[in-house]
Amino acid sequence: MFQWVNRILDKIGSPELDWVQVEVTSQCNAACIYCPQPLIDHKQHMPFELFKKLLPNIGYTDLVYLQGWGEPLLNPDLFSMIRACKATGKRVGFTTNGMLLNNETIQRMIDLETDIISISLAGTHPATHNRIRKGTDLTKIIKNLELLQEIKKEKNIQHPVIHLAYLMLASNLHELQEVVGLAKRLGVKQIVCSHLSLILHEPLRPEALFNQKEEWQRFTGILDAAAAEAQRENLVFAFNSPVSQNQTEYCSENIGRACVVSVTGEVGPCVFTSPTLSQGKGQTERSPLLHLFQNSFESCSPLSFGNIAHESLTQIWNKKEYQNFRNLHDSCITQHDTAARLLPPACRSCHKRDA
Ligand code: SF4
Repeated sequence: MFQWVNRILDKIGSPELDWVQVEVTSQCNAACIYCPQPLIDHKQHMPFELFKKLLPNIGYTDLVYLQGWGEPLLNPDLFSMIRACKATGKRVGFTTNGMLLNNETIQRMIDLETDIISISLAGTHPATHNRIRKGTDLTKIIKNLELLQEIKKEKNIQHPVIHLAYLMLASNLHELQEVVGLAKRLGVKQIVCSHLSLILHEPLRPEALFNQKEEWQRFTGILDAAAAEAQRENLVFAFNSPVSQNQTEYCSENIGRACVVSVTGEVGPCVFTSPTLSQGKGQTERSPLLHLFQNSFESCSPLSFGNIAHESLTQIWNKKEYQNFRNLHDSCITQHDTAARLLPPACRSCHKRDA
């Protein structure tokens, strides 16, 4: 009886979130030059049984986004996960490298009324994109997206809406000028541009746009021109500027109204604190990957407030330590000097605090 009442209360108290991001796999069929994925040594899929533990607590969540440090279409349970979320009335989306889109995966995605599919790009020409996103092929990705558009047209449906996720690097920014044309041709509704903020190797340092101060004016010009063209074409064009004047104490990610669940069920604020970014045997001997922050290598310190295998998302979200963490990143609640002293190691070496 008590258990039943607790379950109901737990469900009623579910957090009101803009999205829950779920890492459905840490396996990938690509090896992008900037991604920690090739360094992850214990690659796995999230079991469907573990995923299902989230479902009672997403009642007030707008979107379930199936994305982490891997390619979602590799998880054989991906479509069962989408079906389970849609059965609870949720919007569902995922980001893919686009290589596994084919007639079958597209039909299944459409039949389940998947809301959003986002395609990762790092160039608008095959030579650039394929060099950076190793193991993928822009020509094939474009063909796959054309097939998706054809099938949507045949069925006279609007879903899934297609987004492009363009990673801006110093060596591919010039091609951003063509992304709006490509998006238009492929029926894309939204372009989201991000820049490299997790730098895993010294040779990647010059690829991070914020490290190229002398070029900031040119970068801004390219971004502004692409944004203006997108506006003329009625496309949403979202980007976070690489031109950052200083570091703040506060995170720019939506950590107050969103969370990330790792492939093993750990709940944290973002993908950068995911325990997936650790190497070594077993769970106890694992050590975090290192990344370059300013002039030194820092640890990708994991941060988890609980695991959905043992506690509900409601319990984890409402924990005092998680609330304190969120408050720390809320400039209305925590004063700048207090936040600076109390930030956990992961946030201290993170460019998502640049503004
Ligand atoms: S500051 Fe960085 S590490 Fe900390 S929550 Fe934000 S994105 Fe994650």
